[in-house]
Amino acid sequence: MEDPARAKNYHKTGRILSVAGYLLDLALLLVLLFTGWTIVLRRLAMHYTLRPWLALLIYLFLFGLITQLAGLPFDFLRGYWLEHRYELSNQTLVGWALDQVKGLAVGGTLGVLAMEFLYAAIRYWPQSWWVVCAVVFMGFFVLLANLAPVIILPIFFKFRPLENSALVERLLALSRRAGTRVRGVFEWKLSEKSKKANAALMGLGNTRRIVLSDTLLAQFQEDEIEAVLAHELGHHVHRHILQMITLQGVATFLGFYLIRRALELLGPHFGFQGAADFANLPLLALVTTVLSLLILPAVNSYSRAMERQADAYALRAIPSRAPFVSSMEKLAELNLAERQPHPWIEFIFHSHPSIQKRIAFAQKFPA
Ligand SMILES: [Zn+2]
Repeated sequence: MEDPARAKNYHKTGRILSVAGYLLDLALLLVLLFTGWTIVLRRLAMHYTLRPWLALLIYLFLFGLITQLAGLPFDFLRGYWLEHRYELSNQTLVGWALDQVKGLAVGGTLGVLAMEFLYAAIRYWPQSWWVVCAVVFMGFFVLLANLAPVIILPIFFKFRPLENSALVERLLALSRRAGTRVRGVFEWKLSEKSKKANAALMGLGNTRRIVLSDTLLAQFQEDEIEAVLAHELGHHVHRHILQMITLQGVATFLGFYLIRRALELLGPHFGFQGAADFANLPLLALVTTVLSLLILPAVNSYSRAMERQADAYALRAIPSRAPFVSSMEKLAELNLAERQPHPWIEFIFHSHPSIQKRIAFAQKFPA
């Protein structure tokens, strides 16, 4: 069993680094706004071109450079140093750096496209842009959920169809009993990067699938893997991915509405020339960042409820609860989980109920 004090320290340090990185982001946005440096950056961009989309591209490059460089130390400490310090990582420094570059390329491209669309929409639909953007971004999230397992995640990880026919047969039997069909089970080569074990339901529509990390497949017994599969099947049967996307849609509408209000109320104060003036980007980012923090406990509560629903599904689907409990024990050990986090910490930060609660839930579950 993992050392509870060690697990506690690991998670505490991780949270401190995440919160510090978040506060740094906030501070940077406030500095850009209140010093007027964002207007200096916009002038610099407009100095080279008067085409709005090209000037925005230059501005985004400068904005991205500043925010990424400032956040790099925290990204490194959280993503590389901490994982190595607690012996949870198999990744080399070069491998980590390469992932950062890939992440920047993918995230940067998507971010630039989103921002170019946003400011074009503000120019073309000065009144209704926020509704247009909310609808288009929502469609984009659906598309991204569909494409993630076939285009985006393979940039970072290798996947291959699960070859263990006994396991595939168990899943098919589970699916048949549930009256549903999953498009496939894939082995996720996580061991190149991490010692942790993981499983997930991914994709939407024609790409939905269950993925199991090779680290999990190597350490778990077949009936424990069946319990994990049944949990993921529970997410599928209860349409949890669709529910999360819907929740994201509501948050997106709210976000764009608040951005519009913030631009109307505060835009003139900071010297922006209307909503289409992209120097207001730090204000947009500030609204989004604060909103995402405010709704984090609600999103995580919703997520924990879905996890409990998937656990209940799994416990009904498998012949006995013992492999479910032992799979939880193994997950806790491999992932250095904090079995019993402080209730407030769990409420705000945890997307899954604590291992202690999940095991207690299984033991109380009617046989
Ligand atoms: Zn789950």
